Amino acid sequence: MTTAVAAPFRFFSLQVVRTRRLGPSLVRVTFTGPDLHAFHSDGCDQSLSLFLPQPGQPEPVVPLEQGDNWWQAWRDLPDDVRAVMRSYTLRALRRDPDEIDIDFALHGVEQGCAGQAGPASRWAAGAAAGDRVLLLGPAVADNRAIRFRPPADTDLVLLWGDETAVPAVSAIVESLPAGTRARVWLEVPHAGDVQDLMTLADAEITWLVRGSGPGRAASPLALDTLRTAELPRCERPYVWIAGESGRVKELRRHFVGERGVDRRRVTFVGYWRQGLCEEELRAQS
Ligand SMILES: Cc1cc2nc3c(=O)[nH]c(=O)nc-3n(C[C@H](O)[C@H](O)[C@H](O)COP(=O)(O)OP(=O)(O)OC[C@H]3O[C@@H](n4cnc5c(N)ncnc54)[C@H](O)[C@@H]3O)c2cc1C
Repeated sequence: MTTAVAAPFRFFSLQVVRTRRLGPSLVRVTFTGPDLHAFHSDGCDQSLSLFLPQPGQPEPVVPLEQGDNWWQAWRDLPDDVRAVMRSYTLRALRRDPDEIDIDFALHGVEQGCAGQAGPASRWAAGAAAGDRVLLLGPAVADNRAIRFRPPADTDLVLLWGDETAVPAVSAIVESLPAGTRARVWLEVPHAGDVQDLMTLADAEITWLVRGSGPGRAASPLALDTLRTAELPRCERPYVWIAGESGRVKELRRHFVGERGVDRRRVTFVGYWRQGLCEEELRAQS
């Protein structure tokens, strides 16, 4: 006898319904699609692979007709034809109608701003209703692309994220049960990027505004702030850190090396690295 096991991930063909600017650095893009009813996620920092069209293409080119061989066939396509793949986080999933939100940090797309634009940032800045994308996302709610996994005995949740992790941290904070003690730091380029987060948890949320001038992504704000932060008394903290890789490494070192947090209780993810596009970052990890 064989038991059917649902594949945890599958492709979803989506189109943009609307966009909303959340602040100078973040835009929310809402998507829908006929097969979104099969999209299931427990949320938190649920990561997704988004496939975007090259400029001038009506839709992203991914050879889905190749079945399980799509990945190699996609990689074999010419650079200017192959859809651009980038990692993003599910910000929200709604039913009736089926919709998902993804919040994009915009970098390098506005005049006078620091940093280099990338294809995803550029796409998000110009996204409009009807634009088509492909998403490789979860068909099973509890899946390995959710990394936020506090051990059951956790007595303090510590979260740090930059603007690329604001969506993940926001979704995590919203999901924390009443009574959970949490300290949260979110670092963003502009004061206008600060958002109101809803939570039942006993969470203290600190927004750090670093400014957006040259070299600001490497600002020591996060480390300085955390070094001087007085944490509530706790015995079994759980730490989750995501954002620019260099910053993430420094902060992990701080929690493990300087504060003595058990390294098994620290989840850390480099969401991007200064000076490298996502393909280059993936090739290095
Ligand atoms: C698991 C996971 C979840 C993520 N979730 C989100 C999310 O929900 N929202 C979100 O906005 N991002 C998220 N990211 C980060 C996002 O994938 C990267 O920022 C990605 O590099 C953006 O692609 P791009 O095409 O715009 O730039 P790329 O072509 O990848 O990079 C071009 C240049 O821009 C630089 N760069 C990349 N991102 C930034 C930035 N934010 N600020 C300044 N410079 C940058 C690179 O260093 C490079 O020099 C996530 C990443 C991971 C791994």
